[in-house]
Amino acid sequence: MANWRRGPDARPRVAYGSLGIDEPPRLEDGRPNPAYQAAYYALHRDRIRAAQRAYRQRTGRHRGQSILHYRTMVVALLMERDGTACWICNAPLAGERLSVDHVIPRCQGGGDDAKNLRLAHLTCNRRKERRRWPNDG
Ligand SMILES: [Zn+2]
Repeated sequence: MANWRRGPDARPRVAYGSLGIDEPPRLEDGRPNPAYQAAYYALHRDRIRAAQRAYRQRTGRHRGQSILHYRTMVVALLMERDGTACWICNAPLAGERLSVDHVIPRCQGGGDDAKNLRLAHLTCNRRKERRRWPNDG
């Protein structure tokens, strides 16, 4: 991206094909090309690993903050509070798609605060739809 305050961008650019493969770094719609990323990672594995290790030692984190999405954090907090079972069918949540369920649905005035949220299987939640669960008030 050009920065108009810096004048013409004189940095040397890495040429397409510098990895020795034909894949361009990005797809036509702008998303990163997975084949190119895999080749890049294979070529620079040691350097990337060293940078990741240095980051972990510097920050004590296993991944960057930007990867810690809001939804992931909400799910982790709910699991810490309620355990790892689906609140509708009581089966463990592991391995299936999760959903964050509103105990009182939003359309009935339920809020987004923590006491109105619980974890459920996506399928269980779909089945429940907009009804309130009978044993829950
Ligand atoms: Zn379930």
